[in-house]
Amino acid sequence: MTQTINTTCPYCGTGCGVTATVDGERISVAGDADHPANFGRLCVKGSALDQVMGLEGRLLHPRVNGRRTNWDEALDLVAQKFRDSIAAHGPDSVAFYVSGQLLTEDYYVANKLMKGFIGSANIDTNSRLCMSSSVAGHKRAFGSDTVPGCYEDLEQADLIVLTGSNLAWCHPILFQRIARAREQRGGRPLVVNIDPRRTATSEIADLHLQLAPGSDVALFLGLLDALRRARKADKTFVKRHTEGLSDALAEARQWTLARVAETTGLPPHDLRRFYDLVIAHDKCVTVYSQGVNQSSAGADKVNAILNTHLYAGRIGKPGCGPFSVTGQPNAMGGREVGGLANMLAAHMDLDNAAHRALVGDFWNAPAPLPDKPGLKAVDLFKAAHDGRIKALWIMATNPVDSLPDADFVRDALKKCPFVVASDVVEKTDTNAHAHVLLPALAWGEKDGTVTNSERRISRQRPLRAAPGEARADWRIICDVAARMGFRDAFAYKHPSEIFAEHARLSGAKNGGARDFDISAHAEISAAQYDRLAPFQWPAPAGEAPDDQPKRFFADGKFFTPGRKARFIVTSFRAPAATPDAQHPFVLNTGRLRDQWHTMTRTGDAEKLAQHIAEPFAELNPLDAARLGVEAAGLVRLGNARGEVLLRAQISERQRQGSIFVPIHWTDQFAANARVAALIAPVVDPVSGQPESKAATVAAQAV
Ligand code: SF4
Repeated sequence: MTQTINTTCPYCGTGCGVTATVDGERISVAGDADHPANFGRLCVKGSALDQVMGLEGRLLHPRVNGRRTNWDEALDLVAQKFRDSIAAHGPDSVAFYVSGQLLTEDYYVANKLMKGFIGSANIDTNSRLCMSSSVAGHKRAFGSDTVPGCYEDLEQADLIVLTGSNLAWCHPILFQRIARAREQRGGRPLVVNIDPRRTATSEIADLHLQLAPGSDVALFLGLLDALRRARKADKTFVKRHTEGLSDALAEARQWTLARVAETTGLPPHDLRRFYDLVIAHDKCVTVYSQGVNQSSAGADKVNAILNTHLYAGRIGKPGCGPFSVTGQPNAMGGREVGGLANMLAAHMDLDNAAHRALVGDFWNAPAPLPDKPGLKAVDLFKAAHDGRIKALWIMATNPVDSLPDADFVRDALKKCPFVVASDVVEKTDTNAHAHVLLPALAWGEKDGTVTNSERRISRQRPLRAAPGEARADWRIICDVAARMGFRDAFAYKHPSEIFAEHARLSGAKNGGARDFDISAHAEISAAQYDRLAPFQWPAPAGEAPDDQPKRFFADGKFFTPGRKARFIVTSFRAPAATPDAQHPFVLNTGRLRDQWHTMTRTGDAEKLAQHIAEPFAELNPLDAARLGVEAAGLVRLGNARGEVLLRAQISERQRQGSIFVPIHWTDQFAANARVAALIAPVVDPVSGQPESKAATVAAQAV
């Protein structure tokens, strides 16, 4: 019998709805015509989902030290090693490193086990590499990690400023929504693209600002001052609903057009044009992504953007606002359940005593929740390297190929006495160093929820039975929790029970005003959960559900103690590494249209390899000529950390002095192309997000 099942794409934070047709073993996919993120459209990657469901290379049975075993032996061992480490060295001697690939229910129980029952906050996620600077910026300005707007704003805006985001390749359906709106509205929204590199996104831009890498704060300080000079303050909004403007403006006043031009390397006439466009269009959305976040000044970049929107009162209204788009399908769900080392479930904060008490009581935790943040991703692996972490559980991610200083991370795993990996594939550079491998469900088998960049929660539904002995991540975590002595608190039988528990927690309000509220679903049954249609939060109990797009801050009420938004003083800081005679190039990294992360899911799909089949380094023609690098010749990039050998692409798209390399290829798919090995473990001091786009390297023709 043919079945039609609605589910959600697992690749990017757009969160497109997918309609799968299941006919026995045959599965085909199409866009879900009713899903409000994509209205029936899918990008190339999403439309090839049915090609990546093969079982070749899948991890289908638990393994201990390379030997196939049964679940009981593997789970007993994991629980015993974690218990032993905690007994001998304390709860901070263990850690979880999780992923934006986990479903919200998986993420919730992992966080509950570590923070509520093990008693440590040592759980961090690969979303730290993706959008933690946005989280930090939101929390500083709004008092909460709130994305204010919704996708409709992208179509209703008169101007979109796309900064640090190759939306055309990384969030293709959002890009298509903008492009279609431009067709239908006679060229509106206008688009400004801010990126050191010319990309597919730049092709629809009315203005492309090819700024110096890392100079965004200077650009937006100049914009704030330009708005001031043009008298674009929304005085009523600023007076009633914000604080801290005078200090932020005092810093901005220092940024004359000439100084911004010098720092960003942009011609003054382009700067003037950009500022004039923003001044002229109240319906302005600033979209930003990894180009802003992955920086040692990431949080300041975010706040420099937010300051301009607060100043002009361009927030919480149709067609305007700052808009952080997330890279991973469930980075937002991870934020909701407190998947970062400094957060708690239901958007509560670890550094807030009332929140800790509320969550601890709600969970019936055996002891007060930890009051200090856990180790953030880069520090977590440093701690594994120097022996502080003695038992580490990695879930649904491949840090040996994705974290900065990747060879150091590999050494950290070699040194760590006990490493567990839950994964869908058996052989990855990370899994090679795991003592225990636990087979997890993949897309098309999982059952749970994800949240996209506009705060819309959608279901991922299973299309087939679990292959081999694979289990849901939430189930594996609960099985270990039970063996660690916490059976009652993790006695879930169905993911709907976890979702409902999180929804109940989100409605518990004695910890002060909070943004995240899905308590309308606190009593959801398994059958209702199965039918759950995509919805945007907030969805508080007692409020009738509706399909209207939801925006935050229309009422001017923020989530700081005084309910006012805060202007943050941001100061320009150049990237940590400065090009010099030895390492004269800035190495920029990023994603390609048809590949995903370290290719564990997409690497073998023929259709996806047709776009770009091998790793490359993109150089400016003048740099290539000086180095003697020929088109399609080989170029070696290196620094003290490592080397990669890549095919040269020579293009005017690339700024002189910069080189772009995609993040995807690992040793499994191409020799000597693991670019994460060249990235220094430099992080933003506020967010802990690594600076993945501004390493310095030497380049040499081969
Ligand atoms: Fe999937 Fe993102 Fe493509 Fe949508 S835009 S189909 S979520 S990869």
